[in-house]
Amino acid sequence: MISSKFDYVRPDSLDEAVRALASGGDDAKVIAGGQSLMPLLRMRLANPEKLVDLGGLGELRGVRDIGPAIEIGAMTTYYEAGRDYLIRQHCGLITQATATIADPAVRHRGTIGGGLAHADPAGDMPAVITALDATLVVRGPSGEREIKPADFFSDYLTTTLEPGEILTAVRVPKHDGWGYRYEKFNVTAQAWAIVGVAAVARRADGHVAEARVALTNMGSVPIRARAAEAAAAGAEASAAALAAAAAHADEGTSPPSDLRAAADYRRHLARVLTGRALAAAAGAS
Ligand SMILES: Cc1cc2nc3c(=O)[nH]c(=O)nc-3n(C[C@H](O)[C@H](O)[C@H](O)COP(=O)(O)OP(=O)(O)OC[C@H]3O[C@@H](n4cnc5c(N)ncnc54)[C@H](O)[C@@H]3O)c2cc1C
Repeated sequence: MISSKFDYVRPDSLDEAVRALASGGDDAKVIAGGQSLMPLLRMRLANPEKLVDLGGLGELRGVRDIGPAIEIGAMTTYYEAGRDYLIRQHCGLITQATATIADPAVRHRGTIGGGLAHADPAGDMPAVITALDATLVVRGPSGEREIKPADFFSDYLTTTLEPGEILTAVRVPKHDGWGYRYEKFNVTAQAWAIVGVAAVARRADGHVAEARVALTNMGSVPIRARAAEAAAAGAEASAAALAAAAAHADEGTSPPSDLRAAADYRRHLARVLTGRALAAAAGAS
């Protein structure tokens, strides 16, 4: 199918992009790598009247050390993020998860910002930045604001981005000294997660001092497995103790039933994968 007719602009600066988007009202959309939006356009499931292409905005691309955090520009591709030294050194969970996303062709075009703004419950990066307690940076007609993941992902394929707002970057606190693991269950390689688990843990004296766990595809938005986190905190860093903590992983979730898995099976996966992810993150033997 061929997409509906739309106006196309490719601004040279972020200010220009914000103006172009705001002047298009509710019917304007930005396009980044196009890996999710292009299929929707071709199937006429999205029919914007104006497309604002962020491809010319070098200022939204790349990774910077900003002291306590790493700032990843929204237009940084998965490929670039997966190879970046700063990300690998300070928030390796992103490096690990990026390698599981789609295939090399998609990773060369798809962007960190696009994957977050698209807010697919099966997308990997939303849970990853939730576990890393990152901050999303947004620019709109009334200036810049910062949003925590819990306030950004509001529903299935929906965020709290206002009309005219562009996600410009994600700031990820350095997790030096933390262990991490992204466990993703899919039936075929290079496919979407049936369930994914992003875990980070800090270990002290053979115990888990602190842990954060976020779940992919266990509801319409990424979900912190807070009961499992609470049970893991203070627990011995052993596979058995962390499997016991992970038994709480599906509490407070509402996983979908679909052609690929029933909700109960997803709950089972969340518990098993959380046990594995916590054990790996905590360096359990
Ligand atoms: C075959 C295939 C397999 C895939 N497998 C996976 C997978 O395993 N895991 C996974 O996580 N993803 C997967 N994806 C999705 C992929 O990660 C997409 O790249 C990503 O979802 C969108 O990024 P993009 O840059 O291409 O965004 P686009 O397609 O350009 O945009 C997507 C949406 O986000 C909006 N948007 C984009 N950038 C911004 C911004 N900076 N500010 C505001 N809004 C913005 C657009 O308006 C649009 O609504 C797969 C895609 C394909 C085609």
